Formats: sequence, C-alpha cells, structure tokens
Amino acid sequence: MSSSYQSVSRYFEDAVDRMGLSANMQKLLLTPEREIKVQVAVERDNGEIATFIGFRMQHDSARGPMKGGLRFHHEVDADEVLALATLMTWKTAIVNIPYGGAKGGIAVNVRELSHGELERVTRKFVDEIHDMIGPHKDIPAPDMGTNAQVMAWIMNQYQKFHGFNPACVTGKPVELHGAEGREEATGRGVAQLTIATLEKRQLDPVGTTVALQGFGNVGSYAARFLAERGLKIVAVTDAFGGVTTSNGLDIDALCEHVARTGKVVDFADAESITNEELLASEVDVLIPAALGNVITAENVDDVRANIIIEAANNPTTPEADEILARREILVLPDVLANAGGVTVSYFEWVQNCQHFKWELSRVRKELDKIMLSAFEKVWEIAEAKHVSLRTAAYLLGIGRVGRATVLGGL
Ligand code: GLU
Repeated sequence: MSSSYQSVSRYFEDAVDRMGLSANMQKLLLTPEREIKVQVAVERDNGEIATFIGFRMQHDSARGPMKGGLRFHHEVDADEVLALATLMTWKTAIVNIPYGGAKGGIAVNVRELSHGELERVTRKFVDEIHDMIGPHKDIPAPDMGTNAQVMAWIMNQYQKFHGFNPACVTGKPVELHGAEGREEATGRGVAQLTIATLEKRQLDPVGTTVALQGFGNVGSYAARFLAERGLKIVAVTDAFGGVTTSNGLDIDALCEHVARTGKVVDFADAESITNEELLASEVDVLIPAALGNVITAENVDDVRANIIIEAANNPTTPEADEILARREILVLPDVLANAGGVTVSYFEWVQNCQHFKWELSRVRKELDKIMLSAFEKVWEIAEAKHVSLRTAAYLLGIGRVGRATVLGGL
C-alpha cells in the first residue's frame, strides 16, 4: 500500500494531468513550504522523563495564513502529517476561505496520558513552535486526539510569548473565545452534504440506511444531524468495536451510552459488529469518520454501499478509489465532505480578529451556505468534465491555489 503522502500526491497528479499545469508549477504546488519536527520532552506524573516527537507541516500559504488541525495519536508520523497538510491546502481553497494549509501532530497515545501530562505535552509543543505559528502565519485547531481544552492551553501558552491573541488557534471552548457551533461543525457539514448528495441522486433521505465508522466528534455529530433528518443509522463502530440493528440505532441514547462508558460496544438492543463487517454492510451510505487508509485494495470489493461520504481525512487509498469508480460507487471526497470544521474555524478566527461574537444561528446559516455552494461548484465541474467528484474538487482547489501563486509571484 502506498504511503499517505503518496496517496494524496496521486490524487493531485490525477487532477493536474487534466489541467495542463507545467511540471515546474506542479512541483512548486506540491513541495511544502516548511517542515517542522521537534522534541517534546516532559516529566510524567511518576517523575520519569518522556520524550515524544512533534510535527507541524506548513504546506502552502499562497491564499492566506496556513490552517489545519493538530493530531495527537500514536501512529502520527512525518509522512501522514504532510499528507494531511496538503489536503488542508486544497480543502480551504475548495470552500474558498482565505487560508493555506498546514497540519500538526504528536506521536503519543493520549489514552496513556493523565490530564496533567496532556497539558504539559501541549504546552511544551507550543514552546517549541510558537515563533512559527500565529494568527497571520499558521493557525492550529483540533483534530484526532485533541479538543477544545487542548486549544485553550495552546492559546494560553502562545500568549505567554506574544500577548493577548485569541485568533492564534481555533476550536477553543465557547467560554474562552471559541465560536458557537465549532464543535458540531464538521459533523453538520457531513450531514448536510450527505443529504445534498442523496437529492442529486433523487433519493429520499428519510429511511436511507447509513453505516458509520467512528463515533468521535465528527461521527457522533454527523449521526445526530442525519438521524434528525430521518436517515436510519444501522451500524456504528469505534476503535473498540461496534453495534448494529436493522431498525436503526437510537442516536441520542447511543451518545448517552458513549458518554457513560467511553465506547459504543454493549449498547442495549443491538448486535455487535466489527470494523471490517461495518465496511461491508448492506447499506445505502457508508461514512468512514475515523482513521485514514481504511478502504483499501484488499477490502474494497466487500463494500456494498452505493455512496461513500468521506468524513475522515484520506480514508480511501487511490487503488481502492479506482475500483470504486469502476463499480460506479459515488465517493464524496474528504476535502469537500469534512470541510465544515475548518469553515467554522474561519468564522471563529474572524470573530476573534473583530472582537465580536456571532450567534449559533448565524454560524449555521453561513456554514450551510459555504458548504452547499462548494458542493454545487464541484458537482458542476464533475459533470462538465466527466470526472469523479474527487478530481473535480481537486481541479477547483488546485486551480485556486495555482492562480493565487501566479498572481502573488514568488
Ligand atoms: N482538523 C480539521 C480538518 O481536518 C479542522 C482544521 C481546522 O479547523 O483548522 O479539517
């Protein structure tokens, strides 16, 4: 299997092949501006020293300050973070918000850290990179393994060096310069575009069956919004296993169960299901909302859904993607499907810069507008050029970044 960076480069190449971009321009657009790798050494609660490796990959700033999440996960490495940074560049361009792309991460298993250790790891990481990030340089946000509390520590630590600066990070707690609706934003966008996709296919959302891999921030909010619109979530898995019932899961009750036990397994009135079984479920819509590289050449033949909505970043390998296209399974790509999070991050940053607060209703309205207009644009390109939605999204994103690069000059 190709590495994550090879995968996203391959998607890039598939698109630029149709654009007539010169080889020099391709190289410029694909080469990251800066790759940061730092030591994150902290004292553990028992007095021992623990050393982790932290990354911040700054891919492109042609359209504005670089933007992207911070992932704390034991599988984080330079290749993956760079791949995700590249995806952020296309993602911000596709939804047309004034940012470039970056991503960060620390190779650490957060489940093995105490609250205090997590705080020390976060602050130490900021100590190492604070000069290279900032509200007009590069703005971190939550991703897998991080949350609003971690963002609050980042803001606080950054401010020790640079003074009051809430716009230096997004995804903060609402009580501490965060935006209403940021937490739900990615899931809301995923649900919104799932419904838009069904409508394009003239399918009724009510009763449409869904299998969902991942029940963290993105998966759980997507499930709530989809259930609200009458879709039937028949299977859900997380890192520990999963549950299924043909009647559709009661999502509010499942959220309560997860809040209580930390897992979806053992949820009442449902049978258990593995992650592999979930990917092979007989459903209308499959939503991977967890790790990358889960739909691969090895398991793609098992997929039985007609529509895949990529809520996770980079869930499908290029080999699998080709097979899905041949089988005429519709894939709504990550760079569009999960762009709701960074879009509301943008609203948070705007509010912080203006020292002005929006109400939830305004956040939702503006989010829906941006997501649906990007969706329509991508759909239009796909139809006009007879390409997949992924290639269409890349054509749109790369085109915008390319034009900004040329207009700005070197
Ligand atoms: N981590 C999210 C993503 O992959 C959000 C990034 C952000 O808000 O900057 O899009």
